[in-house]
Amino acid sequence: MTTHDAELAEQDAAQQSDHAAVPDVIVIGAGLAGLVSAISLLQRGRSVTVLERRSVPGGLCGSTHINGYKFTLACNDFGSSMRRYLSEIGVSLTFNEHASVWHVGDEKYVLPPTPETQETLARHKADSDRLAEAVSQPGFDEKFESAAQLLEATVRDPGYADFRTLPSYVSGLDPAKHRLDWFLQGSSKNPDYGYDNLITPIEGPEQITEALVERLSQLGGSIHYDTDVHGIRDTDGGKAVTTSRGEFHTRTVVSGKGRFSSNEPRSGLELATLHIATRPEAPFPSGVHTVGNLPAGLGRSMAALDAGRLPDRFGFHIFPCAATEAYRSFNVYFYYPRGVEELDEPTSTAVRNYITGELDRIIPGFASAIVFQRLVSPTQFKNEHGLRRVSIQDILPAGTGKPAIRDAATGVYHVGNTVGSPAYHACAAVLSGLQAAELVAPEAGRARTA
Ligand SMILES: Cc1cc2nc3c(=O)[nH]c(=O)nc-3n(C[C@H](O)[C@H](O)[C@H](O)COP(=O)(O)OP(=O)(O)OC[C@H]3O[C@@H](n4cnc5c(N)ncnc54)[C@H](O)[C@@H]3O)c2cc1C
Repeated sequence: MTTHDAELAEQDAAQQSDHAAVPDVIVIGAGLAGLVSAISLLQRGRSVTVLERRSVPGGLCGSTHINGYKFTLACNDFGSSMRRYLSEIGVSLTFNEHASVWHVGDEKYVLPPTPETQETLARHKADSDRLAEAVSQPGFDEKFESAAQLLEATVRDPGYADFRTLPSYVSGLDPAKHRLDWFLQGSSKNPDYGYDNLITPIEGPEQITEALVERLSQLGGSIHYDTDVHGIRDTDGGKAVTTSRGEFHTRTVVSGKGRFSSNEPRSGLELATLHIATRPEAPFPSGVHTVGNLPAGLGRSMAALDAGRLPDRFGFHIFPCAATEAYRSFNVYFYYPRGVEELDEPTSTAVRNYITGELDRIIPGFASAIVFQRLVSPTQFKNEHGLRRVSIQDILPAGTGKPAIRDAATGVYHVGNTVGSPAYHACAAVLSGLQAAELVAPEAGRARTA
């Protein structure tokens, strides 16, 4: 029997005793949203079992090893509200605060703005004022349908228009199809997620997952790994959750699988990664996490990707994953053309050459320090990790909001980026977990005393 088999056997034994106990709540998915929701429910005195189809927790928040080098799995820096949300559930972590640098055509923007960036922004004041004036007018959202329309009508400098297209780039959307309210949310302070003040756990995002799992077990919660949930049905006074490893009974279900607006949601563009390891002395700006490189004509480039074509020049961003005495590792994210499963070998080589060439232009000396590279397509990532590298899972039609956390038809509560709180990032997912716990706790408690 392997260690993994022994763990599964132990889990089966635990599952039997859980069956006897019947937890107040079953949470599907040990991603950030599911874990936070589970912990908040445990804090409120509810018994909770988490079912996770992968063999590790954290969902998109974690790390992986390739060729002996450590790389971040997906999410990597967070709004400063993450501190506040974690402290609400008794989790305290030390974070680094840092800047981001965006190279846009010939200009460079440091965020939060340095004095040099303030000067650059001052040069674009007329455009910025026209944009602010347009969105302050009553009915502006009926006049413009998309981010691209708004920018075309107000911003005259093409380079500055590229910079203001950043929210579309980070969302993986063609600005001509980017809903105006979602686009403006990109810089909104409501709710106060703090994405204008980015933080990262000191040793990497997996520290958040590790701290959550520790807190969950401290409060008496359990996670069953390798347990793929297939369905949920009503039973007398509760729910039965059918999984690859048998049926679990509970009173209430919280699902982190995603609640979609239709059976076939259209998502934002999927991210591919170029994993890079370098010698330890590789240059990288200090105090900076993300360095982005956006081409002139970013909107056209995103439109080409959305139409399934790889443009000659495309945006990408790089951030550090690990630094040891032996190496440094970095992820470079860029969008794959929609619908393309794999680029052919010559195109992959051209993509790698384009990225490393541009990296060497914006961080001189970087390319010559590279000792390892691996390009991972969204399809490869899905096959290796059972997760999708997409920020927006479900592009909702204009004028519609995300569905409610509680599905009135099924009585199932949902968490993650497809419900509740606005925007599509880890802080929104975590907030949905906290909101779901607040809604679920009284119901699960009522059922227990009934
Ligand atoms: C490439 C990429 C980079 C990102 N970068 C950032 C960033 O830097 N900052 C930021 O704030 N946000 C970022 N995000 C967004 C962030 O990762 C997500 O908002 C957040 O991780 C969502 O957490 P979640 O728990 O809702 O979903 P997930 O992390 O997807 O977790 C869902 C969990 O449910 C499990 N599950 C699914 N179906 C089943 C089933 N049937 N049975 C059992 N278990 C199941 C999955 O295995 C998974 O563990 C990024 C996203 C991507 C794709």
